[in-house]
Amino acid sequence: MGETELSYVHEAFETNWVAPLGPNVLGFENDIEHYLGNDVHVAALSSGTAAIHLGLKLLGAGRGDEVLCQSFTFSASANPITYLGASPVFIDSEQETWNMSPQLLEEAIAQRLSKGKKPKAIIVVHLYGMPYKVNEIHTIAKKYEIPVLEDSAEALGSTYGERPCGTFGDIAILSFNGNKIITTSGGGALVSKNKEYRDKAVFLATQARDNAVHYQHSEIGHNYRMSNVLAGIGRGQMDILQDRVHARRRNYKYYTEELQSFDGITFLEEPSGMFSNRWLSCILTPSYEIREKIRIALDDENIESRPLWKPMHLQPVFKKEINFIDGTSENLFDRGLCLPSGSNLSVEDLERIVEIIKSARS
Ligand SMILES: *Cc1c(COP(=O)(O)O)cnc(C)c1O
Repeated sequence: MGETELSYVHEAFETNWVAPLGPNVLGFENDIEHYLGNDVHVAALSSGTAAIHLGLKLLGAGRGDEVLCQSFTFSASANPITYLGASPVFIDSEQETWNMSPQLLEEAIAQRLSKGKKPKAIIVVHLYGMPYKVNEIHTIAKKYEIPVLEDSAEALGSTYGERPCGTFGDIAILSFNGNKIITTSGGGALVSKNKEYRDKAVFLATQARDNAVHYQHSEIGHNYRMSNVLAGIGRGQMDILQDRVHARRRNYKYYTEELQSFDGITFLEEPSGMFSNRWLSCILTPSYEIREKIRIALDDENIESRPLWKPMHLQPVFKKEINFIDGTSENLFDRGLCLPSGSNLSVEDLERIVEIIKSARS
């Protein structure tokens, strides 16, 4: 936490705005709109997953529909597709950003169209804070007139061509879960240039109450609005977002300077025009065996590291879904490791981590 979160939370208590509405919710939305610019409108919600669920609903996905989704991601990107009775079609990644491959996306669209199945949306992710190939993906989406849901849960503070991630999709989503670059302990947001989407998201997130003095409902709603107490934390966190980005990038820089070219360890570099918040610092090792050796050596010293996301097409729960896969994400999953990446790591912590990695490799 930074300096100002508690004062916003105090304000919520003192004014008794302890509910999923109030001045902090509107203030937090306003802060995010300001930060993202580009005339976006923001709805603060209870989680990023809730934002994806509502986003897909607003884009018209429903029972029997197909939604194209990046396979190399966290399960929360894909789960909401199934909440709507729709099916995911998983698309593999490319090497330069580890995100959705434009080639495979276009292949998948052509193939699904030939079966008479026009996908309802494309869920594409800025994984680990690295922007996806925005130009290429959105050109294809436009060509086939399929809306894009931009999963920016890990990429607040990242930019593509100087424009913030979270401003590209027909609908974008953010997450403020406890593990993200800034947090409200749990929370998320739906972002869109289309104010009707924002307003409809708030309507659906507050139980879809019709405009009447009594409780009347013409649509199924959800309880997905953000609490005014948690939005207070979010307001304080927006003040320190830039510090957090600097801290994460400092971690990454330290790791690259110490480990780059050390015995086959490589990093994902920023393609030109892209700026990553470096939410997590990830390495690629030469093989699964070496990855495990490093992971276990760290674990033996009580230091947590994690393999990269296990692709969705390999998940037991999704193994029957249609996919367009060329091996890229499976290879990343085998060889990749997320190193400790907290914003509060000291130089001594980083030195210790790097020493253990180096000795595991020699
Ligand atoms: C965290 C995350 C989400 C979900 O956000 P929650 O706020 O935890 O529901 C969705 N997509 C990705 C890529 C994430 O990392």
